[in-house]
Amino acid sequence: MKIGYIHSIESLGTVDGPGIRTVVFMQGCDLRCRYCHNPDTWQRSCGTVYSAQELVDKIIKFKPYFIKNGGVTVSGGEPLLQAEFLYEFFELLKKQSIHTAIDTAGMLNDNIKKLLTLTDLVLLDIKHTDPIEHKKLTGADFEPTQRMHQYLVDNNIDFWIRQVIVPGINNTPSQIQALAKYCVNAQKYELIPYHTLGVKKWRELGLLYSLKDVAPPSKELMKELKKTLDNEVNKLKKTSR
Ligand code: SF4
Repeated sequence: MKIGYIHSIESLGTVDGPGIRTVVFMQGCDLRCRYCHNPDTWQRSCGTVYSAQELVDKIIKFKPYFIKNGGVTVSGGEPLLQAEFLYEFFELLKKQSIHTAIDTAGMLNDNIKKLLTLTDLVLLDIKHTDPIEHKKLTGADFEPTQRMHQYLVDNNIDFWIRQVIVPGINNTPSQIQALAKYCVNAQKYELIPYHTLGVKKWRELGLLYSLKDVAPPSKELMKELKKTLDNEVNKLKKTSR
């Protein structure tokens, strides 16, 4: 029996996957995104300890709210760092016919491939499509995200693409063009405006927040970028027919 390290549980969330969902935020992340709003999840072996059964017992009372297309999303942190625990957790959820989703920056190994057999949806967060800029923004390589994306496409696993738009970092038309190719096979794609709600946590943890002078993007810019992305995705879809 594996043990899971859980940061917190959001009982009824509406933004991390379809329908009404319980979102389990897991401890541990090796990335260091400059805009991270959950830096308190970075440490691995802390938070509240649960067995898979204890976690199911804790959230099963929300099942009536999931109705048709809701369910459970694991987020973080990087939930895939606890893939073996999640396999046990998802096995129990599937016995209850509960829809399972993983919110991840993307990584792949044998345990994760096994977990994906019990996963209904992956919310793949693409931070930046340029490997050098990705490293500057997150401290990590883009390659694991690319590998996971390819694996999802090759194995017909449902996925959404999400990208946080940070003005001055990943909001140029060429960047949006590059993002389009990851969205072509996705069931859905979303651009999420950068926000500063996590700044307080960085301060409390004694960390230096390097984006303090960056303002969130305007609604107009977000609309414009979404339009550009839709056009690019449609062009790619037409050429691949
Ligand atoms: S991947 Fe998510 S949890 Fe990890 S640093 Fe980036 S935003 Fe934060």
